[in-house]
Amino acid sequence: MKKRICVYCSASSSLEQKYYNFAEKIGQAISKNGYDMVYGGTICGMMGVVADNVLKNGGEVIGVIPERIEKENIGHPKLANVIVTKDMRERKAKMEELSDIFLALPGGFGTLEEVSEIIVAKQLSSHTKPIIFANFDGFYNELNLVFEKYYSEGFAKDTFRDVYYMADTIDDIFDYLKSYKVREYVYKW
Ligand code: AMP
Repeated sequence: MKKRICVYCSASSSLEQKYYNFAEKIGQAISKNGYDMVYGGTICGMMGVVADNVLKNGGEVIGVIPERIEKENIGHPKLANVIVTKDMRERKAKMEELSDIFLALPGGFGTLEEVSEIIVAKQLSSHTKPIIFANFDGFYNELNLVFEKYYSEGFAKDTFRDVYYMADTIDDIFDYLKSYKVREYVYKW
């Protein structure tokens, strides 16, 4: 069975065109590198663009969508696999369960919340799956500085640095996945 990448990204339709172009390239690369995709299931913003491009290139896409959002008629119409959940919390848990890899593209608070939760889960050893930020056009540089402050001022352990990976290019994402090695983290201070 193909591995599944869970994509977290912006649902906004008000971004500069460069972000949608990037979403298109990521969708193509997911399929071409032999992965399927799991995501929030809507046609909104970058989310819809990534899903379209995975499908166009022969990949499978599973949409996991909460009841309330499904009723808003913004579900992606071309998805063969849609799972409807009770709420956003159940959706995140389902996305985690179905996925082998987590990839955060540029996004807003929703994306940040999803990727933060999956980072914390890995720190606490509830999973050992790769987590990647696609640092397109330096989008995550400032967040990375905040993370550096966590390490330098003792809010996070230095050994957690490799819980996630900041990838500067699309090739970098797939090279990282090829060489990924599972390791355990000790949460004790
Ligand atoms: P944001 O980054 O704030 O644009 O939120 C998008 C991310 O949060 C996606 O990865 C979705 O899984 C989730 N999400 C939050 N709100 C929505 C929404 N109204 N429609 C679709 N996905 C959403």
